[in-house]
Amino acid sequence: MNPSSVVSVVLVLGAGLALAGCGPSSRAAAAVPGGPGAAAAALVGPHVHRALRVEVDYVEGRRPGDDALERLRQRLLERTDHPGGVEVVLDDVLAPTGRERHTLDDVRALARLHRDPEAGDAGVIHVLVLDGEADPALGHHLLGAAFGPTSVVVFPDAVLRAVGGSTTRAADLLRWTLIHEAGHLLGLVNLGAPQAVPHEDLAKRGHCDQPGCVMRWSGDERVTDFCPRCKDDLRALGGR
Ligand SMILES: [Zn+2]
Ligand SMILES: [Zn+2]
Repeated sequence: MNPSSVVSVVLVLGAGLALAGCGPSSRAAAAVPGGPGAAAAALVGPHVHRALRVEVDYVEGRRPGDDALERLRQRLLERTDHPGGVEVVLDDVLAPTGRERHTLDDVRALARLHRDPEAGDAGVIHVLVLDGEADPALGHHLLGAAFGPTSVVVFPDAVLRAVGGSTTRAADLLRWTLIHEAGHLLGLVNLGAPQAVPHEDLAKRGHCDQPGCVMRWSGDERVTDFCPRCKDDLRALGGR
């Protein structure tokens, strides 16, 4: 697989406050075919899909909290233009995989197995929530990744470990991870959504250089929103 087709999240430990971070970053400034951002215009704008559906398939015991899912839904609703709205659907509950490490091929195979066939006129973002952790080849301390035009995987066990077992912080960090990875699918930053004003972090391609933005490569795990420049990019792509 082409490494630039995966944008993943790792944790960067800072002093006192754990920082959420994302890497390895995309080497390409633009979306690559089959990679995150390749479906950005369709997911953001009003012209392709009437509605947007987030399908969440999760391993039992790893269900994301309602706050994280509702905040994700809210951000997508605020920034994309779908007359039929945005819904988050908790779908398959997967039996534990028994794997300690998942390769990207493992993740893709599980996504193929569980993702519902597309039906109707809704665009779909598929979120796979797994037990275990990502193979280190995918990135060290990986929390999640956008690995296809409409595909995200998150690793709650890695999230919990990253914050030293604090369930409160893990809930915040998982929320951050979900919104951040969804942002990559929407084309941020410079991954399918052209920049109205340049704000891509040139040291961490595909990420935002603005303070307090959920699309920064690293930042406060409590952040939940896109910055004005990221919002401008989504608006220019047909969003709101
Ligand atoms: Zn990222
Ligand atoms: Zn931003």
